[in-house]
Amino acid sequence: MIAKVIVDVPASNVNRTFDYLVPEELKDTVKPGMRVAVPFGPRKLQGFVIELGEETSVQKLKKIIELLDPVPVLTEELLKLGKWVSDQTLCFLITAYQAMIPAALKATYHKEFRLVDGVGLADLPDEARVWFKHREYIPMEDLLEISPTPLALFQKLVQKNSLEVIYRMSDKITKKKIKIVQRRGTEEERLQHIESLSKQAVKQKEVLSFLHESESPVVLKDLLEMFDTTRSTVQALESKGFIEIAEKEIYRDPYGGREFKRTQPLLLTSQQEQSIQPVLAALEEKRHETILLHGVTGSGKTEIYLQSIDRAIQMGQEAIVLVPEISLTPQMVNRFKGRFGSRVAVLHSALSAGEKYDEWRKIQRKEVSVVVGARSAVFAPFENLGLIIIDEEHESSYKQEENPRYHARDVAVQRGEHHQCPVILGSATPSLESYARAQKGVYTLCELSDRVNKRELPSVSVVDMREELRAGNRSMFSRELFDKINDRLKRGEQSVLFLNRRGYSSFILCRDCGYVGECPHCDISLTYHKKQHLLKCHYCGHQEPMPSQCPMCESQYIRFFGTGTQKVEEELAKLLPHARVIRMDVDTTGRKGSHEKLLNQFGEGKADILLGTQMIAKGLDFPKVTLVGVLAADTMLHLPDFRASEKTFQLLTQVSGRAGRHELSGEVVVQTYTVGHYSIDLASGHDYHSFYETEMQIRREHKYPPYYYLTLISFSHTELLKAVDASEKSASYLQQKVSPGTIILGPVVSPIARIKDRYRYQVMIKYKNEPRLSDLISELLQHFQHEMDGNGLQISVDMNAQNIM
Ligand code: ADP
Ligand code: ZN
Ligand code: ZN
Repeated sequence: MIAKVIVDVPASNVNRTFDYLVPEELKDTVKPGMRVAVPFGPRKLQGFVIELGEETSVQKLKKIIELLDPVPVLTEELLKLGKWVSDQTLCFLITAYQAMIPAALKATYHKEFRLVDGVGLADLPDEARVWFKHREYIPMEDLLEISPTPLALFQKLVQKNSLEVIYRMSDKITKKKIKIVQRRGTEEERLQHIESLSKQAVKQKEVLSFLHESESPVVLKDLLEMFDTTRSTVQALESKGFIEIAEKEIYRDPYGGREFKRTQPLLLTSQQEQSIQPVLAALEEKRHETILLHGVTGSGKTEIYLQSIDRAIQMGQEAIVLVPEISLTPQMVNRFKGRFGSRVAVLHSALSAGEKYDEWRKIQRKEVSVVVGARSAVFAPFENLGLIIIDEEHESSYKQEENPRYHARDVAVQRGEHHQCPVILGSATPSLESYARAQKGVYTLCELSDRVNKRELPSVSVVDMREELRAGNRSMFSRELFDKINDRLKRGEQSVLFLNRRGYSSFILCRDCGYVGECPHCDISLTYHKKQHLLKCHYCGHQEPMPSQCPMCESQYIRFFGTGTQKVEEELAKLLPHARVIRMDVDTTGRKGSHEKLLNQFGEGKADILLGTQMIAKGLDFPKVTLVGVLAADTMLHLPDFRASEKTFQLLTQVSGRAGRHELSGEVVVQTYTVGHYSIDLASGHDYHSFYETEMQIRREHKYPPYYYLTLISFSHTELLKAVDASEKSASYLQQKVSPGTIILGPVVSPIARIKDRYRYQVMIKYKNEPRLSDLISELLQHFQHEMDGNGLQISVDMNAQNIM
């Protein structure tokens, strides 16, 4: 039997299957989708079995060394889907497959040295002998830790054929185990022993009496705590044969021990009723249909999701729910766990690799029917999918910005077609792409124009910050916003202040010569972090101490500028010393669980003001929040990105949606320096449809998506001229080959001209129909293969680019 295997090397010359012989003893167990260990040159690598067959054109076949899975980690559907992802995004097959499985299943490789058979310790020089006295294998990492490293010596011995290098492969899987205790022997024997135990052995007596009564095993740790005793008590009983200590594998459950209050389906409003109909119909008829659910914030979209999932489960099917990473808040998770209890698995990046692996296995073993997760959960290995939901479908985080550069929405629709099941895309501000598709009839459009119970959308007032400055107000709070915060403080209500961090973090500036602290490796200014008193680059991680004088002119007047959340917090403390403020940004939520802790504190009313970045824009639902302040609405508006207006509109709408969701009505104050911009004005009027019309016109004029597709090819090199050269050659090559309606832009310098010491250029391709595009780009990559392999050129291709920075 022959297995066709994709090996774990992301490179163009091995981007195909290799044939291996299946050893006799594995014939009945090996299946497509399982991981195997195979010899590959001198190495041992992990690979995926794609297909089994009897034919091969290879003369001397190597054998599969080892089977790594008892059951396939990739289903037949996912094997096909991986090929599709690879074709669509021009990534290597192995890269697509690796993206579908949890990180814990990815192999790590170690180089080790070992004595060649027949070579003894005595044959080694003294300095090498000590190493092998007690060990058979010496990992290369161990050698590197020693200074000076004896690596050269080892390499010499390899050349002399005394030592050989072997490659060890392991995966990162760890299964968590706990010790449990269970009673043994007959009832009589135990009772007798309990009687016979002396007064000195009172703990043993208590423990055994307890276990005697207990039918099911008890966790050892709990038992010891319960009786305030030590292991020796239990061991004594074990040695006498009355109890047994065993190990049991358990799931790491990040939500373990938590009570989820069960909720019942609500009686749907008539708008909800109308919108759920097409979903239920498609479910019932087992038919694929993509439904765009456009509903204002608080219109009850989530309840529609819940009831649709309920129906899918009743039909014996499974559901995937995607939510953006930052809105995977405990509040959101609670709503799903509350309705479906332990049938829900949760996958997001805050989980450890082990926790993710355990959640994933629950899906694989069909122990759950629902997964709620971020982008990559779209690959959940369900085999009987009945429904896929993408909440906040406009979110840019659904597009992966590294290989494979897939968009979860496209993958969801692809899986929906395979399983013949509905896909729901939900949003208060659908992406232009999706709304345009709904207008054309490709998607079914359902709209929820009212909040549940007709609660008003909050009133929004836009404040011109230039006016404030003219009136002598130099603070970052307009008088209106300040008065309203104050007002909430007096009434005991809560406020949320939102600061869009992008482009507005604190940079340092010399007031004498105008010097701005920039990263030495990237063309971007450094951000000041007050707590550590450091300047950091958010692109490459470079950091340096905050200078006490200007590096250019030695002036003392070097200060940090911009409005970081820390600065806002300080100003609040000055202006409103009694206000209790919780700040949420990357600095305060770095530690695991801190995000949730801060939100809980706010929910419990332990603070008056929640101040934060993007991460507070979504999903929060607190009854006492009656004021939302946006400190600077236009920070995103001026980014060199054709989606800047759309993103601004979406963000403002989201943020406004946090106010007045319950009995108390809400107000929103939006501060801006760009008064009169349509995306700010239309967001404050809650007018999605006008925004759509206005923005579509602009996109049509400038030939941008959704009228045109957009593919971005980026070139980078440590040498400026080489980056320029490759991008120019590519642009002119494409220019000759593409069809007449297609537009090639560039090459131009990327908006961030240099990152990590690499110069960056880009070529943009805009097209309506270019069936040969993938082939053309593949030809290009082929042409530059040599430059890319050895000479430091990097080319990345982003089909349907979301981010053009
Ligand atoms: P969205 O997801 O559109 O922002 P939600 O589903 O969060 O809206 O609904 C907003 C609020 O209204 C929630 O508190 C929810 O429990 C409540 N709600 C939703 N549907 C109903 C209904 N049919 N009857 C009563 N309350 C509802
Ligand atoms: Zn200076
Ligand atoms: Zn940098």
